Amino acid sequence: MIPAPFQYFAPRTVNEAIGLLQQHGDDAKLLAGGHSLLPALKLRLAQPAVLIDISHVSELKGITSNGDRLVIGAGATYHEIATSEAVRSGCLALAECVGQIGDIQVRNRGTLGGSLAHADPAADLPAVVLALGATINVMGPNGARSIAADDMFVAMMTTAISPDEVMTSVTFPILGRGEGAAYAKLRQPASRYAIVGVAAYVKLDGGTVAACRIGVTGAGAVAVRQPAAEAALVGTSGDDAAVAAAANAAGDGIDYLGDIHASAEYRQAMVKVYTRRALTEALRRARA
Ligand SMILES: Cc1cc2nc3c(=O)[nH]c(=O)nc-3n(C[C@H](O)[C@H](O)[C@H](O)COP(=O)(O)OP(=O)(O)OC[C@H]3O[C@@H](n4cnc5c(N)ncnc54)[C@H](O)[C@@H]3O)c2cc1C
Repeated sequence: MIPAPFQYFAPRTVNEAIGLLQQHGDDAKLLAGGHSLLPALKLRLAQPAVLIDISHVSELKGITSNGDRLVIGAGATYHEIATSEAVRSGCLALAECVGQIGDIQVRNRGTLGGSLAHADPAADLPAVVLALGATINVMGPNGARSIAADDMFVAMMTTAISPDEVMTSVTFPILGRGEGAAYAKLRQPASRYAIVGVAAYVKLDGGTVAACRIGVTGAGAVAVRQPAAEAALVGTSGDDAAVAAAANAAGDGIDYLGDIHASAEYRQAMVKVYTRRALTEALRRARA
């Protein structure tokens, strides 16, 4: 399929990109790796009159380790993140997540910012940013602001980013002693999108789970935290019985999707299975 005609701009700075977004309003779309937007254009599901290609904006690239934080440019590709030593040593669950996205072509082009801004219900990264309590940094005509992961995913393919804003980077915590995180997914065998994906973060204090965050993607229209499962684990030793109880509490508050890949009932069952797997691995890493 051939996309509808569009005007193409390739700004070199974030400010230029914001200026173009303001100038062209609803007619314009940012283009990053193109691995969600270009298929939509070719299928004519989206027909923006103007494409603003931000893949040449150097401000959006790079991964920096900043004390107890990792700041990753919105334009960083999955491959760059998966192979970054700073990410692998400071935030392994993130590297683990992006290393499982799509295939090598997708990982070479797809970007952190594109995935989070697109907010596909089956995308992997939303679960991880929720579990890690990441912060999404954006820039718009009124300057810079930050969006907590918990406030980011509003509805199917809808985020808290305004149409005239550009995501510039995402800030992740560097995990320390006693902390662990993991991502476990049931993948669609062809595309590798998450039929269900669960990310878990735990913090141990002595032998007790002091904090827990769980993010689920793929199951419903929007990625969500799992407060009941988190509460079930906090205050326990994180032994097998506690993990089983937490996994059993997972899945509430999700309006389950059913499609050709999996029924709603199957997704509901898999949320519990993958919550147990993600928690078990996160706890193993926290104890290591
Ligand atoms: C064959 C195939 C398999 C895939 N498998 C998976 C998978 O297993 N798991 C998974 O999670 N995803 C998968 N994807 C989707 C892939 O991860 C996409 O790359 C991602 O969804 C979008 O990132 P992008 O950089 O390509 O963004 P684009 O397609 O360029 O843009 C997507 C949207 O984000 C907006 N946008 C992009 N960058 C910014 C920014 N900095 N600020 C604000 N808005 C922005 C664009 O305007 C557009 O609306 C797959 C895609 C394909 C084609």
